[in-house]
Amino acid sequence: MQATIAVLSGDGIGPEVTAQAVKVLAAVARARGHAFSFQELPIGGGAIDAGLPALPAATLEACRRADAVLLGAVGGTQWDGLPPPRRPEAGLLGLRRELRLFANLRPLRAYPELAGASPLRPDVLAGTDLLIVRELTGGLYFGEPRGRHVRDGRRAAVDTLPYTEDEVARIARVAFRAARERRRLVTSVDKANVLHSSQLWREVVVEVAREFPDVRLEHMLVDTAAMQLVRQPAAFDVVVTENMFGDILSDEAAGLVGSLGFLPSASLGESGPSLYEPVHGTAPDIAGHGIANPVGAILSAAMLLRFALGLPEEAGAVERAVAEVIASGARTADVAGGGAAVGTGEFGDRVAARVG
Ligand code: NAD
Repeated sequence: MQATIAVLSGDGIGPEVTAQAVKVLAAVARARGHAFSFQELPIGGGAIDAGLPALPAATLEACRRADAVLLGAVGGTQWDGLPPPRRPEAGLLGLRRELRLFANLRPLRAYPELAGASPLRPDVLAGTDLLIVRELTGGLYFGEPRGRHVRDGRRAAVDTLPYTEDEVARIARVAFRAARERRRLVTSVDKANVLHSSQLWREVVVEVAREFPDVRLEHMLVDTAAMQLVRQPAAFDVVVTENMFGDILSDEAAGLVGSLGFLPSASLGESGPSLYEPVHGTAPDIAGHGIANPVGAILSAAMLLRFALGLPEEAGAVERAVAEVIASGARTADVAGGGAAVGTGEFGDRVAARVG
């Protein structure tokens, strides 16, 4: 297969971890006879420092033409003084908006060898392997009317949580399709006992479920889901939920594995290129030292192979290689607990050697 991958390394540890993801993708291409070409493009603080907007027009155009976009992270204190529309984060938000990415996928898997880094007891965490599918473009964060006002001389504020049946149906389909490749269970999370938008959500998810008779559907109220994520995380397979519930639950889930550095993500649209990036930010406190954990970036590359290029075997090979390197005892500084740590580049080399 031939594929063009737009690489937006970004700021801070972005370039350090993205280089490992590219290294692993190049090793996959060599081993399996694919031709991947990587196009490095500016975004965020690096673009601003070069006198460009946070999302340069040429970067956006190249992303649109690419088969997939691999991103590191953007931002840093040196740009915090800029007005919000000109800050590095505006580049990433603009890219997500322009590519119309409505589904955010965050898988989370507990490696038994790293159970000590988790705040949960090892027996509670054991077997955890879940995927959170979050609706990204609707709901409370975008609904109108929104804003602050003064009523009868008192300060007031309003936010609105709108969803249409089409918005719910398309995100539900992403979740059911993903479940087909996994353990075939979808947990739809809502607050249907209180919210009208959740009642519509539940109704539509039930309708979509009829298209997937081989996948089991269960419903869970968001408060129960928040509790179950720490009591019985291994009971979940695919969790699908609206924007704000997904924002909160995916960060709660991230806390289960002990370091942000392990978590990958994918953002998908209805058509066009999709975006793959680790969940973490630019980690200015450790940038430039070669000690960042590249697993989130490498597993994002595995998601790119699976979802953008339709290469599930290659994706599985990368995921197995990461698990093997961890099982062999290699630890980056964030989870080494003061013991011997492997650097970012060395970790990437070891994963690449195993997929090659
Ligand atoms: P962060 O994720 O960058 O860092 C939080 C903590 O986790 C830090 O202690 C950091 O050292 C650690 N950490 C993060 N990734 C790690 C890795 N791969 N290996 C080891 N340790 C890791 O979040 P923050 O400190 O709140 O934000 C720093 C900057 O990143 C800010 O400018 C913020 O706006 C930006 N940010 C960008 C994105 C993105 O581009 N998607 C996401 C979040 C934050």
